[in-house]
Amino acid sequence: MSEWDIAVERTINNNVPRVHKILSQYPYIQDLARELRKAKLEVINNLEYFTQQALESVKKIGGNAYYVSSLYEAREIVGKIVGKDKIVVMGKSMVAYELGLREYLKELGNQVWETDLGEFLIQLANEPPSHIIAPAIHMTKERVVKLLRERLGVEVSDNATHEELVAIVRKFLREKFVNADVGITGANAVAADTGSVILVENEGNIRMSTVLPNIHIAVAGVEKIVPTFYHALIEATVQAAYAGLYPPTYINLTSGPSSTGDIEMKRVSPAHGPKEFHLVLVDNGRVEVSKDDVIKEALLCIRCGRCHLHCPVYRALGVEWGRPPFTGPMGAMWSYVVHKDTRPATLCTHSGNCKEVCPMGINIPKVLEKIKWLDNDKEHNKA
Ligand code: SF4
Repeated sequence: MSEWDIAVERTINNNVPRVHKILSQYPYIQDLARELRKAKLEVINNLEYFTQQALESVKKIGGNAYYVSSLYEAREIVGKIVGKDKIVVMGKSMVAYELGLREYLKELGNQVWETDLGEFLIQLANEPPSHIIAPAIHMTKERVVKLLRERLGVEVSDNATHEELVAIVRKFLREKFVNADVGITGANAVAADTGSVILVENEGNIRMSTVLPNIHIAVAGVEKIVPTFYHALIEATVQAAYAGLYPPTYINLTSGPSSTGDIEMKRVSPAHGPKEFHLVLVDNGRVEVSKDDVIKEALLCIRCGRCHLHCPVYRALGVEWGRPPFTGPMGAMWSYVVHKDTRPATLCTHSGNCKEVCPMGINIPKVLEKIKWLDNDKEHNKA
């Protein structure tokens, strides 16, 4: 068996039964998922309106908000806010990966550290992520032992436990968190009515990245906008459950820079947390796709990663299927959304498992079929 086969089998055995258990133990989650689908569809059908509302709401609570249409603009804005010679800690963010932010900020002369454990491991290994919520699932524990030994220069026994490996990374990153100038995260959802950003996590790295540095920058695709604060909370709940991590250890909510109302109940800013909050809302292909009646469904994805583990093609191809970080069935859709790459869709065998397990009820095979037709048209026009 290859390293990939071993690692993915272990992941499936750990994750799939857990999601089933969560859904039967907390039956309200499936109702919330249906409610969330409706709310997200409303945003996708009125993307311009909700984007505008979200931008204004962030400004009302003392934050800075930007809408960018391309990845180049996004990088430029983030680069200007960060500057150079800074220590940057990053929470796992697919959109940051999509934008190539880590490399870009390093080129500007900054020290940039991924703080999500899986993302940190692939940063050390200089490899692309293989799964949207567990970017290092292609690595076995044995490989992690070797990697930490080689790249961090620390003693790690061959028989180190999972807990011991996590402790090594914890120790290494602690000093980075404390000294960081800027924290960059993605967003699970952005509430249009309040300008709040919600992030769900388990490690505590997002909590530290959003609170310890003086500046917090959240970078999110426009499809992450939901109508209200209430829907943002639902998205965090549903995402965590379908990712098999419910209840999540932390749900982080950021509404502008830190503040206090403790003297005469007058709300002033900053307090102990960041002095500055910036939200960068990114189009990069999403707006165009929102106008296609079939493919727009891809924008409903809440990045739970469930479709991956039920897909025979992903099991066979892993990170080779799609354009990282967009792998698996969702990645075949998103390789098109962001890169207009039709090729990953052509590898879909239409087993249909993904559609059955998707919390957003996305008809993934139908979306991929439409993208296949576009690929067909492209080939036809070339001939
Ligand atoms: S397409 Fe559906 S199942 Fe797959 S990651 Fe997105 S929300 Fe989850």
